[in-house]
Amino acid sequence: MSNLKSIFSYDGILSKQIAGFRVRPQQLEMAQAIADTIAKRHILVAEAGTGTGKTLAYLVPALLEGGKVIISTGTKTLQDQLFRRDIPSVRAALQVPVTIALLKGRANYICHYYLERSLQDTHFSFINREEIQYLKQIERYAHISKEGDKSGLNEVPENASIWQQVTSTRDNCLGSECPSYKKCFVIEARKQAMTADVVVVNHHLFFADVMLRDEGLSELLPACNTVIFDEAHQLPETASLFFGESISTNQLLDLARDTRVEAIQAAKDFVDLPNTVNLVEKTIRDLRLTITEENTRLSLAAIKQNASFRNALDSLIEGLGNLKNLLDNQAERSEGLENCKQRAAHHLQLLQSWHADTEMHDHIRWIEVYHQALQLNATPLSIAEIFQKQILASSRAWIFTSATLSVKKDFTHYNKEMGLAIAQTACWDSPYDYAKQALLYVPTGLPEPHHNSYTDYVVKAALPVLRASRGRAFFLCTSLRAMQRVYELLLTADAFDFPLLLQGQGSRSHMLERFRQTPNAILIASQSFWEGVDVRGEALSLVIIDKLPFAPPDDPVLAARIEKINNEGRNAFMEYQLPRTVINLKQGAGRLIRDETDRGVLMICDSRLTTKAYGKQIWQSLPPMKRTREFSEVERFFNVDYDK
Ligand code: SF4
Repeated sequence: MSNLKSIFSYDGILSKQIAGFRVRPQQLEMAQAIADTIAKRHILVAEAGTGTGKTLAYLVPALLEGGKVIISTGTKTLQDQLFRRDIPSVRAALQVPVTIALLKGRANYICHYYLERSLQDTHFSFINREEIQYLKQIERYAHISKEGDKSGLNEVPENASIWQQVTSTRDNCLGSECPSYKKCFVIEARKQAMTADVVVVNHHLFFADVMLRDEGLSELLPACNTVIFDEAHQLPETASLFFGESISTNQLLDLARDTRVEAIQAAKDFVDLPNTVNLVEKTIRDLRLTITEENTRLSLAAIKQNASFRNALDSLIEGLGNLKNLLDNQAERSEGLENCKQRAAHHLQLLQSWHADTEMHDHIRWIEVYHQALQLNATPLSIAEIFQKQILASSRAWIFTSATLSVKKDFTHYNKEMGLAIAQTACWDSPYDYAKQALLYVPTGLPEPHHNSYTDYVVKAALPVLRASRGRAFFLCTSLRAMQRVYELLLTADAFDFPLLLQGQGSRSHMLERFRQTPNAILIASQSFWEGVDVRGEALSLVIIDKLPFAPPDDPVLAARIEKINNEGRNAFMEYQLPRTVINLKQGAGRLIRDETDRGVLMICDSRLTTKAYGKQIWQSLPPMKRTREFSEVERFFNVDYDK
């Protein structure tokens, strides 16, 4: 594409039309590589350091040459930003007549059928007064809204539980049998996606609906010439989720709730149905109660020891079997009962596969335990083959991009995990001057990270740095427990009165807003703030990381994958655990420098960075900051900053 050079030049159309556009050689090179990949229908895995301008680098060739394009993002925030801001401005600058559609998961759209059903439901006992108020607001909004996207109704909080009653799930959507099918928001959004030139989705939707399973979207991918994954470092995790199988107690409770309401409306005379639903509901709750832990992951081996879990699972299977038999006889009385019958059969089949109590040779069975729910999962040990098959099944361009995909510009780990052996790879460094803008500080005197009081030592080392930076910091922890401890210690530290914000005190966007607006604030957070967070300028001048973010080795999926690699005579630590840690660390570290004028210190409190042989690989993967172990240098760095 010969005109890319002029488009990205000082006096090109982007420079004239896109606010804040700067000429960056890396960006042009990346755009050229993407144009080439699109033209040849190849696969490109491209790492672009912060500030490269990768969004424009893929949007320009995609809009000019991409044919039908799917752009998939890791977060809804980026999805909205692309749809509402970036794509329209590039389209206007290039003057290309492409149509755009935004497609979110079905839980984002109001469902007329379930809204109607909730409005008709006279058994309001499960809804409180506030929710009834919300329900009325949702009803009004559904009448006037064109898209039915719940993000357009600010009066009802995004996490209000009423949304579950008025949106559909893949399980309970009635599809073409639905009486509201013709005016359905989900169907309309999908129709628009089918006809648009550029469709913006997120990774969950891509794997759950576009690539797998969902009938309504099965035609979308075959029609596409180009697929672009932004924030592609998240794909291994997301793909693992969706290439596996799972069944949760919440899904089962939803089925029980829907069956009860459908029975009231279409099979009032058949009392066995609600009675059986009550019994099944009890067995679902009993199953959760057999596990005392919460917010943890358990392997099949661990759960095998738990006799009460196995008994509760037996009772649930028996109860669900009875419910399915009743529904077999009643299903013809309404579309809703028919749907419940099919779900009961499907859920029963999944539970019975757990009942068999055996490991599958290529999947790992494990349980995620939440506060009030649990989910039984079967996750593939490797997604490489499955994903590769999908990619090779057709001829189209695939582009994977993110600021963090490689380890020292080596993509072996990512490509192996995703099955992208034949992909081309490329790496563009950030245009920022890290040697001047940032300082990497690894304090001395810290014990090994497994030390009982490790977090206390970290805080002790961090206090002078936080004083020197006058707050203005993210304190990123690798566990919730460490996060809580850091908060307690800072709260009670002597002569330390910077405003403290703790992850969980509000929604992520609310916490970020408070951080930006509170002078000298310190935000103490865990995983939620390691990525996708952009705070420019002085408000964020220090990022502290408590320890190297190795995934917990007792995680059942990780443990099984490690065992598999080691059994093959390979080195799981070097091939799998270390690269994942590097990619995670690069994400956390990436919060610090967000533009040409940002300055700041990255403090990594983990002596393994200097004492272990692999430590060198880690810091060499970070942007080329000046490194120090001396606090005096940190002080000097901030003093220079103040003098400016
Ligand atoms: S088709 Fe599905 S999502 Fe649409 S209104 Fe009907 S049940 Fe709801």
